[in-house]
Amino acid sequence: MKDCVFCKIISEEKQGYRIYEDSDTVAILDIAPVNKGHALVMPKKHAESLSELSEEEVRNLFAAAQKVAGSMKKNLGAEGVNYFVNEGKAAGQLVFHVHCHVLPRFSNDDVNFHTARKKLSGEEMREIAERLRK
Ligand SMILES: [Zn+2]
Repeated sequence: MKDCVFCKIISEEKQGYRIYEDSDTVAILDIAPVNKGHALVMPKKHAESLSELSEEEVRNLFAAAQKVAGSMKKNLGAEGVNYFVNEGKAAGQLVFHVHCHVLPRFSNDDVNFHTARKKLSGEEMREIAERLRK
């Protein structure tokens, strides 16, 4: 897509710190990393969100993310990894070319995702479960 920064990196029109590539997928370093090695794994095909990908494309994306995580453990000494996908502006998506963040974690790092948890009644939980099963 013409105005997509990730498409430009994929086509090498724009520079990126590429760390992995296969026939369907590219992984680059996030230029504003949460931790050293923070990577973004994306399909070469432009799609705004996971919902626009086929099941096979989703599998390819996460298989690549798994490989990137393996490299982080092997080559950076990562002790754990967070995988996350922000879908939609409300969820914090900034670049509308679907990408999976792969974030290397270390037991002494200062990264913190803890936020306050909601307490719902049993009735609210049953109602939500029923709605999501539909
Ligand atoms: Zn794109």
